[in-house]
Amino acid sequence: MVDLRDVHLTLVGTAGPVNILRGLTLAIPAGQSVGVVGPSGSGKSTLLAVMAGLERAQGGQVQVAGQDLSRLGEDGLALFRRQRLGIVFQSFHLIPTMTALENVAVPLELAGRRDAFDRAESALDSVGLAHRRTHYPTQLSGGEQQRVALARAAAGEPDLLLADEPTGNLDATTGGGIVDLMFALQARHGTTLVLITHDEGLARACDRMVRISDGRITEDSGDAGADRAAAKAARAAGG
Ligand code: ATP
Ligand code: MG
Repeated sequence: MVDLRDVHLTLVGTAGPVNILRGLTLAIPAGQSVGVVGPSGSGKSTLLAVMAGLERAQGGQVQVAGQDLSRLGEDGLALFRRQRLGIVFQSFHLIPTMTALENVAVPLELAGRRDAFDRAESALDSVGLAHRRTHYPTQLSGGEQQRVALARAAAGEPDLLLADEPTGNLDATTGGGIVDLMFALQARHGTTLVLITHDEGLARACDRMVRISDGRITEDSGDAGADRAAAKAARAAGG
């Protein structure tokens, strides 16, 4: 599902160029959940941006969901994101002028889904928020906003769900609920899940945990997790 090989990425900040990803190699089979940990500034969010085609690697190979992202132009990348990816951030990123339902439905409409509002209704229902559909983000708690963001990310049945510290702004119980919803999605649809977190316990609850330091993978719980993921994906595929 994800095949990153020897990925290099340098960005130029105010203090000059920063080598953020320095030969990062990571292959993730379909249906696996991967918890990504590492110190602040180690490149976790940048890795997510590369997988989402939001940043372009300057060296190495970036294949996601069967696409070589280096071969896609900006329009192609935007389409790829709409059709194949779901992304959840720490700070929800809901559109304040739209209701919960519109926040979920409008991206689906943009992706050309005719059943956008029906899908959005059932996505909100699956995160337990059907009764909040006409509420605006400011009228929702943090946990509810994150559930809307997750419904939005999941409503298009993405191949790959990327989450960057999705529980970072939530208390432990509420965050645990969000993570349980992600694992349920993984089990139900065989969604591949990349979960960036500062919570090692949470990372270990994934099929596999990897650690990033200085823009490289320095620890990988590896194959044991991959086997478990394959078994899980087979179960999900079998219904
Ligand atoms: P955190 O745990 O704090 O979220 P992170 O592992 O997600 O950290 P990144 O956000 O990927 O870290 O950043 C990695 C490094 O790249 C940091 O040193 C950061 O300052 C730098 N960086 C990130 N974005 C840019 C940019 N647009 N221009 C220059 N440097 C950047
Ligand atoms: Mg980050």
